[in-house]
Amino acid sequence: MTNEFFEQLHADPDELTRIFRRDAIMLYGEHLIEQNVPFSFAILDIDNFKLINDNYGHLMGDEVLKVVANSLQKVTDGKGFVGRYGGDEFIFIFPYLVDYDTIWKILFRVLKSSTELVFSDSSITISYTMGCARFPENTTNFDELFTLADKALYRGKVKGRNCFIIYLPEKHANIALQTIREKVYSPIHLHAKIFNFLTNKNRSLDSNIKQAIDFVGPYLLIDHLCVETPNGLEYEYFQPLFKNRKYAPFGIETTEEYVSDNGVFYENTVLGSRHSNSKLYKKFKEQGIYASFICTLRAYGKTFGIIRADMVSVDTGRIWQNEDLVLLENLANIMSLAFYVDSIEK
Ligand code: GH3
Ligand code: MG
Repeated sequence: MTNEFFEQLHADPDELTRIFRRDAIMLYGEHLIEQNVPFSFAILDIDNFKLINDNYGHLMGDEVLKVVANSLQKVTDGKGFVGRYGGDEFIFIFPYLVDYDTIWKILFRVLKSSTELVFSDSSITISYTMGCARFPENTTNFDELFTLADKALYRGKVKGRNCFIIYLPEKHANIALQTIREKVYSPIHLHAKIFNFLTNKNRSLDSNIKQAIDFVGPYLLIDHLCVETPNGLEYEYFQPLFKNRKYAPFGIETTEEYVSDNGVFYENTVLGSRHSNSKLYKKFKEQGIYASFICTLRAYGKTFGIIRADMVSVDTGRIWQNEDLVLLENLANIMSLAFYVDSIEK
């Protein structure tokens, strides 16, 4: 493609962000297909961007888009091209970079770059979800390439955001059939299920807790979910990929100082946290945990332990969403009552 062509595209950039408009990237993709040049195509969508607009106003939303665009251009410089598709979506083309590991490393770099952004309001943090598909490996049709990258992006959103998915036909071709979360329970149904598991009078406390943990772990795509009592870790659920991983107790006293008044603590990105020298964060780091949810199991003045959800797989990782936190907190509250009833019955 000639320099003249690029100059022309540069001359008419996206109004807000001053990077390429979508047509420039789309035209370039079509051109590469015509020339039979292999390339990776990726779509990036900012996670929960609406919350920025809602909480800080649209002008701040605009600032975020500008900072993101500028940063994306820098991280992809020399490797590929980025344009704004519209709204909070950006699209990328990486000519010749189609080897899985190579594109994985580039997308990982892009993903991590979201933690390095500086906004005029320092309380703002953002993350990205990306989907990627490759020409000619996945398809030779540009529209279809777009659809596959979009499907991968959607898969990433469902997985919990703050991640990227590179389309692999053997894994993603029949996405709808595979996703556990797509067997979607309505929120009320989900909470009722947890309640029913934990209050089943025909079974022991032990097996009720086990059932609840084994339901919530895979449903929320958590890497490790367990109850920590003074006896150590109990009722552990492991994501099958990490089933041989060993976790150690945090210590209930250690977590005590971090939980809020309602007994809850959560951290989405342990890496780079401002508490990184504290006792609890050392424990996260020792165990390679980058996101964690902790909730005290306490009822009527009695403490039984904590419930812990850990994430270790950064590449397919999630950040806790509000509905996940409410679900986990509900699980902890009902479990606390189940422990309490059991303790007075004994
Ligand atoms: P998700 O993680 O599912 O992507 O959640 P989200 O809140 O980011 O949802 P979505 O991507 O659908 O929302 C994009 C929002 O971006 C919707 C719209 O209000 C906002 N938006 C679109 N264009 C602009 C713009 O130019 N400036 C600002 N400030 N906001 C924009
Ligand atoms: Mg978004």
